[in-house]
Amino acid sequence: MIYMDNNATTALHAKALEAMLPFLTEHYGNASSKFYKTGRDAEQALYAARQSVANQIGAKPNEVYFTGSGCEADNWAIKGIISAFDGRKKHIITSEIEHHAILNSCAYMEKHGCEVTYLPVDEYGRVNPVDVEKSLRDDTAIVSIMLANNEIGTIEPIADIAEIVHSHGALMHTDAVQAMGHMAVDVRELGVDLMSMSAHKFHGPKGVGALYIKNGVRIDNFIHGGGQERGKRAATENVAGIVGMAKALETANEKLAENCAHMRRLRDKLIDGVLERIPYTRLNGTRKERLCNNANFSFKYIEGESILMMLDMKGVAASSGSACASGSLDPSHVLLAIGLPHEIAHGSLRLSLSADTTDAEVDEVLEILPPIVERLREMSPLYEEVKRKENK
Ligand SMILES: *Cc1c(COP(=O)(O)O)cnc(C)c1O
Repeated sequence: MIYMDNNATTALHAKALEAMLPFLTEHYGNASSKFYKTGRDAEQALYAARQSVANQIGAKPNEVYFTGSGCEADNWAIKGIISAFDGRKKHIITSEIEHHAILNSCAYMEKHGCEVTYLPVDEYGRVNPVDVEKSLRDDTAIVSIMLANNEIGTIEPIADIAEIVHSHGALMHTDAVQAMGHMAVDVRELGVDLMSMSAHKFHGPKGVGALYIKNGVRIDNFIHGGGQERGKRAATENVAGIVGMAKALETANEKLAENCAHMRRLRDKLIDGVLERIPYTRLNGTRKERLCNNANFSFKYIEGESILMMLDMKGVAASSGSACASGSLDPSHVLLAIGLPHEIAHGSLRLSLSADTTDAEVDEVLEILPPIVERLREMSPLYEEVKRKENK
């Protein structure tokens, strides 16, 4: 199999698995049980993991709160901040291209009396800091803009936006789930108050994430129960998952520059190759401010899902920016937000790489993809008409 869906999830790194195994076997103690060794072992592992994740992102250990996922971190950031303002500030600013964890949390808050401004993006998916400035109000509680988009890879100017947001007295959250492991991510450089992370997007295990909460930020507790995560997020800690997350992030960051250079080179080879070999194709997103591992194309006159099925038959795992994710027939909200008409958005394909992707795999996809697109187009009445007109 050629796996080119690393924006959906990544393979667990062998080092992360190795670090996790003892906590799935002999060290099964509850990290809250301090009166015997296996509990203390778990507690120490948890402590070390928190320290490590904090170090990697330029935070203090007591600013890192482990969660059950990236979605949970996003939900907590939006709902927890609004709830802490207790009606004094009820305005949220976000963008039209956020992950559904943010968009649907905002929609939920709208049902509970909040007003939400959904900022548009330009044709490359970029949020304009000037638009943020114009939308800020006295009652703006929080601005949430993602660091990197999961569909088209666009990297947003978070540091610039955070500065503007703070000058107006609001809080800044960023969803850094896709960025981590694919670029340097430091909360001090970004200047954010809250930041969401998820382990399985950087070769850690699924079902574990974290929310960075800057010291001094008032946020309501999210899971009510015991005193775990400083009482803010109760539940017996997923020690193995947390240890795996820390190890995966350390591993990714150890060779970050080298890995990014590798992915960027292969990404560009893929983008250039596809645009060169397949007519009526556009690259979605920008070439410059782009995740090193993401490529997203729209092929006119065909359906993304048919491409996926044919790629699957050839052993290539990829993703399209449309229906299946949401179970609806609407194309991706991100592709619509960058201005693509429905019919073009439907014909899109996301290929996302990892540090393990090889030149041979990219070459093979460049061999496999053009005839697939050509075959599907031959079955398309629209394409037939275009050809007919061209031949006249
Ligand atoms: C994957 C993803 C999430 C959700 O993370 P989970 O851990 O899968 O819940 C949130 N935001 C972005 C940008 C993502 O890519």
